[in-house]
Amino acid sequence: MKANFYIENQRFCLAFDRYVIEEINGKRYVLPEKGAKSHASTFSDWIDRYLIDILNIGKKVYYNEEVEDIEILDYVRNYGLFGFMADFPVNRYYVLDDTVALRDYNLINYEDHITIIKLEEYLNFFMPKLNDNQINELIEKCRKDISPRIMEKYLTPELNEFLIFSKNYGEPVDMILQYSKILYEHLVHFVEERHLLNYSPLIAINNLYTNIDSLHNNEMGLVYGYLKQAIDLNFLVNLSQDTIMLKICKFCHKAFIPKNSKAEYDTPQCKNKANVYSFRKRAQEETN
Ligand SMILES: [Zn+2]
Repeated sequence: MKANFYIENQRFCLAFDRYVIEEINGKRYVLPEKGAKSHASTFSDWIDRYLIDILNIGKKVYYNEEVEDIEILDYVRNYGLFGFMADFPVNRYYVLDDTVALRDYNLINYEDHITIIKLEEYLNFFMPKLNDNQINELIEKCRKDISPRIMEKYLTPELNEFLIFSKNYGEPVDMILQYSKILYEHLVHFVEERHLLNYSPLIAINNLYTNIDSLHNNEMGLVYGYLKQAIDLNFLVNLSQDTIMLKICKFCHKAFIPKNSKAEYDTPQCKNKANVYSFRKRAQEETN
C-alpha cells in the first residue's frame, strides 16, 4: 500500500530566543534564559536541517567526540527544546491524571517496560526551578483551563503551552545527548543492515495527531506538536522511501541528505580526501 500524506506543524510550537545551561539538583539543564522571548517555531521550513543537525550531534556522542555546550545551545536556539516531557507519557493527557505512565525506554530510567511516576515528581524533573507550591498551581491551572470548554484537538497544544513551551521548562543536556546518539546509532544500523535495531521503541512516533480534513484529496495530515515528534516522524519517513536519501558520509561519518541519490560524501572536500587516501593506499600496496 502506498499512501499520500503531508506533515504539518501544530500552531502552538514555541521556541525562545536565548537559552542557558545551568546545573540544578546535580544535573545540567538547558533552559530558556531569564527574560528570553518566545516565538512561534515552524519546523516545516527546516525539515531536513533539524534532523541532520541532531544526527550529527549524535555522531559525535557515538564516536566519543566532545560535544561543546555551544553546539547544544545553537541547536535549541534554532529549533527549540525537544519536548521530551510530552513525548514520554503513554497517557497523553497526563496532567489530568495523578500518575504518569512513561513509554518503554524513556530517557529517565531506560527500562524496557512502562514505568509509573507521580505527576508532581515528573513535572519537577523537567521544571527543576519550581517548588512544590508552584508545581501544584501549575497542575491546577492546566486542569482549570481545559475543563469547561475545550475541543480535544486544541487540548494538547494548549497544555503544551503551559508545559513544554513554558519559560520554566528545561531538559537535561545528558538526555539530549543520549537521544541524539540513539538516533545516529539507528541510522548506522539501518545503513548497514537495511532495517532498524530490533529494539527501537523510543523513536516510534508517540501521541501524533492526524488531520483528516483533506481526505477529499486522498490526503491525510500528520500533525506534530513538538520537536521530538517532528524528528522521529521525519527520520522514519526518510527511511521509508523507495530511494533512501538519508546517508552517512563514507569519509567523515556525518549524516547528510544529498541532491543526487548516488552521492557517497557530504562535501567535495570529503570526496577529495577519500580519493587521496585510497590513492595513497593503492600506491603503498604496489610498493609492498
Ligand atoms: Zn564527510
